[in-house]
Amino acid sequence: MPMDRVIHQRRIVISGREECIRVAFVKNRKRISILVDDAGGIQVRCPSGIPLKQVDALLVREKEWLNNRLSNVRLHSHHRQQLGEGTPLPFLGDCLTLRLGHWGRGTVFRCGDDLWITRIILDDLNHELDIRRPLERWYQRGARAYFAQRLDYWARKMGVSFNQLHVRGQKTRWGSCSCRGNINLNWRLMWAAPRVVDYVVVHELSHLSHMDHSAAFWERVGRFVPDYLECRKRLKAIRSPW
Ligand SMILES: [Zn+2]
Repeated sequence: MPMDRVIHQRRIVISGREECIRVAFVKNRKRISILVDDAGGIQVRCPSGIPLKQVDALLVREKEWLNNRLSNVRLHSHHRQQLGEGTPLPFLGDCLTLRLGHWGRGTVFRCGDDLWITRIILDDLNHELDIRRPLERWYQRGARAYFAQRLDYWARKMGVSFNQLHVRGQKTRWGSCSCRGNINLNWRLMWAAPRVVDYVVVHELSHLSHMDHSAAFWERVGRFVPDYLECRKRLKAIRSPW
């Protein structure tokens, strides 16, 4: 694999799913091409110096082809995306790139749009777990701080008070609100854009006044998040990046 310098990342919605696309500018390359790998990762390789506008136009033009290609790949892929050097990682609307450093004391840190995991022992059997565990812990830590801040912001704005925040990792629920006023939020929400996280926060805080999904409940949600229908759609389109 030749060394490319990833200069940009683009995001595009295909069939309701937000896809994260890596754009690699390659020296001495003659033409633009789009590659879809077995895990459903999309990469555009193009000659250096080409304006990004041209790449965006190509992505729009090839949307249908990409959609067909992606459904095909996802239908026939039996395993989830393997985590490794270069895996795109969605994080609050940003697209980070996983970087593995074979040095250091076992840390995870963000540097610009790179998310580094250091001290990786490339043992074939444990490779996936060695990356996934510290990566998920990093997302969870970030989620705790971010959710606490958004909850405080929205609780003040909505004039309500909640009891405690619990960050969970359920596979099927994004959030819930208990009758004791505890708010549970899924750390996987960190894969979504900030707007979508805000919608879930407002949704759960609205349950403090309405414990059901009645018209009055949705009216309250809509007062604070007018585009909540769009947010719900985007929430449904989230898929695990690994
Ligand atoms: Zn609800």
